[in-house]
Amino acid sequence: MPELPEVEALVGFLRERLIGRAVDRVDIGAISVLKTYDPPPTALNGLTVTAVERHGKFLDVDVDGVHLIFHLARAGWLRWYDAAPTAILKPGKSPIALRVRFTPVLDADPAGADGLDPDGEPGFDLTEAGTKKSLAVYVVRSPADVPGIARLGPDPLAAGFDQAALAAILADSRQQVKGLLRDQSVLAGVGNAYSDDVLHAAKLSPFAIAAKLDDEQVTRLYTALRDVLTGAIQAAAGKPAKELKDAKRAGMRVHGRTGQPCPVCGDVVREVSFADSSLQYCATCQTGGKVLADRRMSRLLK
Ligand SMILES: [Zn+2]
Repeated sequence: MPELPEVEALVGFLRERLIGRAVDRVDIGAISVLKTYDPPPTALNGLTVTAVERHGKFLDVDVDGVHLIFHLARAGWLRWYDAAPTAILKPGKSPIALRVRFTPVLDADPAGADGLDPDGEPGFDLTEAGTKKSLAVYVVRSPADVPGIARLGPDPLAAGFDQAALAAILADSRQQVKGLLRDQSVLAGVGNAYSDDVLHAAKLSPFAIAAKLDDEQVTRLYTALRDVLTGAIQAAAGKPAKELKDAKRAGMRVHGRTGQPCPVCGDVVREVSFADSSLQYCATCQTGGKVLADRRMSRLLK
């Protein structure tokens, strides 16, 4: 699932290509992804993109006051075209949930003699692989009209998010720090993957209770949060949309690396179940050598 750094990179990618472009048409391939009905997607037609922003893991294309907002969730992705296919989408026949095409603009360095984009209309598809459908698209007049955005906690990379702000959040929570980090209503944008890597960089047990962290641990967590996320953003910046997933995977410290050596100490990266999925960690770096018990497993054995 794309998290804050990948969504931020997609924002940069789309900003470069879309601002100043007008929407030509929006085609819906899977009606179930569209979570709003007023304004209709046709309200975007003819309007010009004025901004592209991120809210947590949501991507917001501001089309002159009408916002096309989407959340890629677990299996959704964006496919960019310099020249989008002109064929009509057949609902239910492909993984393409939504296609947006933009009008050509005068090109500073035209390959076409007419001075337009040489190959047709640029655009993008939102696709979703597999059967677990959770890609969500919203057309709204204000981002706050999307419930998932209205609920978001502070963005960990926002200018005002200092160590005191994180300390206040932690002090207030009886949650395990792994769960806290990926709770979107507490912090916006961090998910299962980066929470593993942030905790590894901070040398903290994923099962530590937030309110019990001491000052030094809070400092480490704050530093790790900023460093891991900004490092991932730098690694992702400027990469085309299609390369972002591989870049994310390649940059991970422990997440998704069960059985491989820890990049810091060489101990084996271990996995333990957590909530609805699993997490990865290094016992030497994070838990004083203690192997975390798989609670799901021990429950089954009781
Ligand atoms: Zn280690």
